[in-house]
Amino acid sequence: MYKLIDGKKLAQAMRADIAAKVAAYKEENGREIGLAVILVGEDPASQVYVRNKIKACDEVGIKSYAYRLDKDTPQARVEELVRSLAVDNKINGILVQLPLPAHLDADKILSLIPFSKDVDGFSAENMGKLCMGEPCLVACTPNGVMKMFESENISLSRKNAVVIGRSNIVGKPMAMLLTNANATVTLCHSKTRDLKEKCLGADIVVAAIGRAKYITADMIKEGAVVIDVGMNRDENGKLCGDVDFENVKEKCSYITPVPGGVGPMTITMLMYNTYLSATRS
Ligand code: NAP
Repeated sequence: MYKLIDGKKLAQAMRADIAAKVAAYKEENGREIGLAVILVGEDPASQVYVRNKIKACDEVGIKSYAYRLDKDTPQARVEELVRSLAVDNKINGILVQLPLPAHLDADKILSLIPFSKDVDGFSAENMGKLCMGEPCLVACTPNGVMKMFESENISLSRKNAVVIGRSNIVGKPMAMLLTNANATVTLCHSKTRDLKEKCLGADIVVAAIGRAKYITADMIKEGAVVIDVGMNRDENGKLCGDVDFENVKEKCSYITPVPGGVGPMTITMLMYNTYLSATRS
């Protein structure tokens, strides 16, 4: 019998906890915690993400500063904005919504965010610190997955974990977090041979591929924990994960649904990182 890890419920509980911590911070320090969100252009998905991030800020009492720039904004103007936010004491976190329009050099812009305000955890400094097991701001999605393990008391030590997907924002930090938690990790990608065999040896499978229902029941060992990071559309246009949930679930001890699994945790961890950044500054 499998247990569903309810990301929506966990995210709500965490947001209530963060709201209490933010209120206590304001009381103690007599100032707000600020998150700057930069959106360049009118990409519809990015607009929704930015709206949701601002809504989450309102919910936990973090003051949001939204900068909505025209799609043709020159590189120098975006750089100037990030540089000014980098030294602005009101701002504890800076987030540049990706993807940026093609004429902009995203790497250059992101490199201007000081690592102490890099609440997405994407910078080389934060990634490097994560690798070295030092305190840092961790990428929100994999950090949210770690909170899910914690909430269910799923022990990671001595477990075999397979992470599928090696992106800088999900797969690689996920593999590092699991390694730091004493799991033995195999990081798989599109060039991996015998993916099925590797998954069958795993106590924990984290799928971050971007392919609808790609992980099927024959790839999963009885009793495995399956975490589905994917967000895809199925043949009927319905939101679904990378895991063939209906067929895989019966083999699992724990599984996350899509929607309502990892997704709600990501923005919650962004709020958490912004709070952490304020307490460390
Ligand atoms: P990405 O940058 O496109 O990376 C996908 C990874 O999957 C790559 O490493 C790729 O391998 C690997 N891959 C592709 N096809 C494969 C295959 N057939 N077998 C094994 N590995 C394969 O994607 P991402 O940004 O990490 O996102 C992954 C998924 O998570 C997407 O569905 C995305 O929408 C979702 N996501 C969800 C959240 C959330 O909050 N829930 C947050 C971020 C992302 P190569 O490196 O060899 O190309």
